[in-house]
Amino acid sequence: MNWPAGADLTLLKRPVWPAVLRGLKKLCPACGKGKIFYAYLKVNDFCPQCGEALYHQRADDMPPYVTMLIAGHFIVGGVIAGQDWFPGFPDWGQMIFWPVVAALFCLWLLPVVKGSLIAYQWALLMHGFGSARPEVAG
Ligand SMILES: [Zn+2]
Repeated sequence: MNWPAGADLTLLKRPVWPAVLRGLKKLCPACGKGKIFYAYLKVNDFCPQCGEALYHQRADDMPPYVTMLIAGHFIVGGVIAGQDWFPGFPDWGQMIFWPVVAALFCLWLLPVVKGSLIAYQWALLMHGFGSARPEVAG
């Protein structure tokens, strides 16, 4: 990233947590109105509402990693707690129930995590986010 001499980089300061909360809702980190995704995990190149460039995102393998980390803790905790709370629940039932719950939970969580990570990258000006901002392009 090449900043012009004398550029005031404080103009680029972006609030992290509001952006991440918008990302958790799968909304544009800049305006909070446009959708980040045009399909399940396909990121819009630009926000359909405000035109913010979103193609700089490089979420890569981080969303599945974080999703598995979170889901694993909930699912393992559920399996262990379920054995105490429902001791008569048959093993074959658990072998059907928990994989289905894990798959549905991961499918729901993955775009939520990806949206928040893209918003985090946007807020921290990572990977080219903020490089084409008109206030410093001069
Ligand atoms: Zn937007």
